[in-house]
Amino acid sequence: MGWLGFSIGRLRVEFSVGIALLAAVLWWLRPPLGPRYLLLLSVLCAHELAHALVSLRLGGTRAVVKIWPYFGRADVESMPDRREAWVALAGPSANLVIAGGLALAGLRPTLELATAEPGTLLLTAHLAMGTLNLIPFGPIDGGRAWRAWRRPSDKDSSHGSSRRVC
Ligand SMILES: [Zn+2]
Repeated sequence: MGWLGFSIGRLRVEFSVGIALLAAVLWWLRPPLGPRYLLLLSVLCAHELAHALVSLRLGGTRAVVKIWPYFGRADVESMPDRREAWVALAGPSANLVIAGGLALAGLRPTLELATAEPGTLLLTAHLAMGTLNLIPFGPIDGGRAWRAWRRPSDKDSSHGSSRRVC
């Protein structure tokens, strides 16, 4: 499967061609499904871009965001100190800030996702992604942030090898 992408400075963003194929198939099966799928994918894009942008802001030299049809990942440089906690928290924080903005606009989350209006669907997806990724356990963002925060402060600003943050 091919990739389409672009670069802005030190940030590279790549999308799988499979996304367009899946959106087209969903649209063909039932027209509202294609746009709803792309709307949900935007939640993932916001999450991964936040990881990448905060990494670059905190001293990373390069970040690559890759979006597959069902998931995404931000390849950023590991950091030996607590900056890694901020990078890990950036993704869920972006989702929760967007969800908060939508809630301030009067929208409310729902469990009836199949029939939800686009704004409600977006709010619910951002809220779910932000909240679930903050659980301080295992390889998810919350667990990574917890481990990084417990590290001793390190004045060494060198970076390790590239690694994944989801
Ligand atoms: Zn993440």
